[in-house]
Amino acid sequence: MTDDARIAEAAAVLRSARRAIAFTGAGISVESGIPPFRGVDGLWERLDPSLLEIATFRRDPAAAWPLLAALFYDRLAAAEPNPAHRALAALEGAGLLAAVVTQNVDGLHRAAGSRVVHELHGSLRRLGCLACAARFPLAATGLGELPPTCRMCGGVLRPEIVFFGEGLPEPARSDAFAAAAACDAILVVGTSGEVMPAALLPWTAADRGATVIEVNTAPSAYTEPLTDLFLEGPAAALLARLAAHLDLGPV
Ligand SMILES: [Zn+2]
Repeated sequence: MTDDARIAEAAAVLRSARRAIAFTGAGISVESGIPPFRGVDGLWERLDPSLLEIATFRRDPAAAWPLLAALFYDRLAAAEPNPAHRALAALEGAGLLAAVVTQNVDGLHRAAGSRVVHELHGSLRRLGCLACAARFPLAATGLGELPPTCRMCGGVLRPEIVFFGEGLPEPARSDAFAAAAACDAILVVGTSGEVMPAALLPWTAADRGATVIEVNTAPSAYTEPLTDLFLEGPAAALLARLAAHLDLGPV
């Protein structure tokens, strides 16, 4: 099958689906300047993963914060949604996508205009107080002087992301797996399928008979056992073509 034929086939699947969802990972944000954790050029090639263990953070949040800022927040300030994020938002707007489930913590799906977004690993754009459990949107408070502190009680804030050693947050986890169990098509974008338990999500969808469309730069853990239709290449170009094929306008 040619690339064009695969795009046309993916469009046909989405058009005829009763309820389609997307499942995204780091690969969709690479073209927004957010580096992935894994793989060549991944952050773990340069950094010690123990930095993101919850025990390390809780032991000394003041020491951890400059690292978190350098690792995440400096890039986040400059990052904008790319055509892949915008194509998914356009699909939702056209009634062709019921939800986006993402493993990313960058908030770029919401920034692109997606409305139903289940963030399985939380979001850097929300901060929570370690002392009193107050929560703040990053946009409202900024980080200020590090470590950021709670304006209610003065306690140290944490990013509401899932650290190593923590479970997936609710209601995102339940909502995401319920969406997967109820869908009949799933668009898997930019994820290698290695981060458990989030990686189980497409399996849940496929178990219920959903058609699996995969968009990745290389075959993943899903491709051989699960994927019905594989679109190989960068997400921004492929999803922009998919949106164009569905007459959703330029993204
Ligand atoms: Zn507080």
